[in-house]
Amino acid sequence: MSATWDIYVMEYARSHQQPWVDLIAGMAHAGAVDLPFSFILALQGPRKVLIDTGFMQDEASSGFARKFGIPNWISPVRMVAEMGIAADEVTDIIVTHAHFDHMGSIAEFPKAQIHIQKSELLTWYEAIALPKRFSHLTAIIDPENLRACLDASIEHRVTLIDGDKDNVLPGLHVRIASGHTIGQQFVILETGQGRRVISGDCLYNKCQLHGHNNDGIYMPLNNATGSVWEQIKSLDKLNDEIGGDLKNLVILHDPDRWQGLTVEKEVEGWMIFRAATA
Ligand SMILES: [Zn+2]
Repeated sequence: MSATWDIYVMEYARSHQQPWVDLIAGMAHAGAVDLPFSFILALQGPRKVLIDTGFMQDEASSGFARKFGIPNWISPVRMVAEMGIAADEVTDIIVTHAHFDHMGSIAEFPKAQIHIQKSELLTWYEAIALPKRFSHLTAIIDPENLRACLDASIEHRVTLIDGDKDNVLPGLHVRIASGHTIGQQFVILETGQGRRVISGDCLYNKCQLHGHNNDGIYMPLNNATGSVWEQIKSLDKLNDEIGGDLKNLVILHDPDRWQGLTVEKEVEGWMIFRAATA
C-alpha cells in the first residue's frame, strides 16, 4: 500500500469583476468573473501539508496584496486553524509558484519545510534584481515573500526541487509545468480514490483544456511570464496526468467554486471542501 492523503480545498479570497480576457486568451467577449482563490491542506499521519499558502492582507502584512484590490478575504491562517491546526504545526509547504496569492503567507508557518522548484525561486531572485524597467516581470511577486524564503533557506527549511520528482513526501509527487512562471510545478497526491492533481496556475478554467466551444484546442493564460508554447506543453502534461478526466483535477482558482465536492466546513461564508480521502 502506498501512502495516501486526505485533501481539502481551502477557499480564502475572491476578486471582483476581473475581466476574463485579462486572464485567458480568446475571452475578449466573455465578460468578467469574481475569481475564487484557494490553497490546499493535505493530511497524512503526522504530516500537515499546505500546497500554496494564500496571502495575508491584515495589518501585519507587507500591504502588497492590498494594491490588487481583492475585496473579499479571510486569513489563510484562520482557515487552517478552523481545521484544528495551528500555524506552527504545519510540517511542509509545497509552493506551486511564487506569485503573492500562492506564497504570500509563507512567513506565517515558521516550522514548515518549503518545497519549491529551484528554477522558480532562483529566477525570481534574478528578475527582482534587474533594473526597474524590467519590473513588469515581478509585478505580482511580493518581495517580502522572497525575503521570507531567504530567511527559511538560512534555517535549512527550503528544499529546491530540480524538475519532476516522485515522493517529495510519500505519495506526493511534483511535475514541472513552466509557462505561467518559469519554474511552476503542479502536484500529484495519491488518495483512496486514485490520484488527484493540484493545478497550480496551469489553468484558471477548464475551458483551457477543452477549448472554447469544446473544440479541444488548449488555451493559454494571458497572465504569464513564460511562453505560450511552454504553457500549452504544460497543459498537455497535466491533461495526461489526469487522463483527460476533470474529476481528478483541483483547479485552485476554479470559477465553478469546486462544484461537486463535499463541503467539510463553512467559515463566515468561506468554504472548505473535501477533495479526496486517504
Ligand atoms: Zn499565478
